[in-house]
Amino acid sequence: MAVFLDREGVITPKLPRGVHVVTLDQAVLAPGAADALRLLTEAGCRLFIVTNQSGVARGYLTRGAADAVHAHIVRQLADRGVVINDSRLCPHRDEDGCACRKPKPGMIADLCDQHGIDPARAALIGDSPSDVVAGLAAGCAVRVHLALSGQASNAATHRADNLLEAVRIILEVRYD
Ligand SMILES: [Zn+2]
Repeated sequence: MAVFLDREGVITPKLPRGVHVVTLDQAVLAPGAADALRLLTEAGCRLFIVTNQSGVARGYLTRGAADAVHAHIVRQLADRGVVINDSRLCPHRDEDGCACRKPKPGMIADLCDQHGIDPARAALIGDSPSDVVAGLAAGCAVRVHLALSGQASNAATHRADNLLEAVRIILEVRYD
């Protein structure tokens, strides 16, 4: 089963609005994230990260720096036994009108095309309603909203209070 993961607020700590991870020092894993995600890797799930990084378009960091930060996060996960198969990063702002910035489904659709994923058998975990809307628009069957801040998402199929709970939901409903 393919699982699409948001980054900030799921794999790395939630940041205040408008704050961007710019340096490798800031690119730390959220407590417990690697341990939870390792269960998915061990269960044979393919993991993909889809992340909005508008700090690039806003000039807080270059695309190269954003890619380096992302690679550092993926490497820390790998060190803890979590395999990330591929990632997509949207560097744009809303006003750029791209097809990739969530809640648009472009990053998920692109990964489905490239990796032969049937979204009707895939899952998504996101902490923002826009993640869940992107998953719905891409046709992901299972959409788990990590409702850390108490926000609701009508587009979610499940709600979880933390990443481990989200992982357990996916392992229960997994299709293959
Ligand atoms: Zn974009």
